[in-house]
Amino acid sequence: MNTADVLRTLAIDPAALDQAPPWAPYRGTSLARIDGSHPCARCGLPARTTRVVDVPGHGRRWLDSCRDCFLAASRLWPSRMPSTVEGIVADLRAAAAEAGAGLTIVTDDGMAG
Ligand SMILES: [Zn+2]
Repeated sequence: MNTADVLRTLAIDPAALDQAPPWAPYRGTSLARIDGSHPCARCGLPARTTRVVDVPGHGRRWLDSCRDCFLAASRLWPSRMPSTVEGIVADLRAAAAEAGAGLTIVTDDGMAG
């Protein structure tokens, strides 16, 4: 599910979101934004978190969210984490290869794999 799909699922109009800066905001910039003055983009309650989303056709926008809407959205964003043991092992192998380091994986039965 891409950003536009997530916003559509949450019934959030990307055109109604505030423009975000073209650079990656510092943590302090994001923290300053959640001072209670910005409403949640989905329900209108005071936002408790924010993130920048890049929406095709709309550019970079602030997605301000209350706690519940943040949690609802977090279930929709694609995970960048592997969800299987095979995926975790593949990521470890790729990282070890990139670092030029050897990798030995020992399972909980004590067998090197
Ligand atoms: Zn909300």
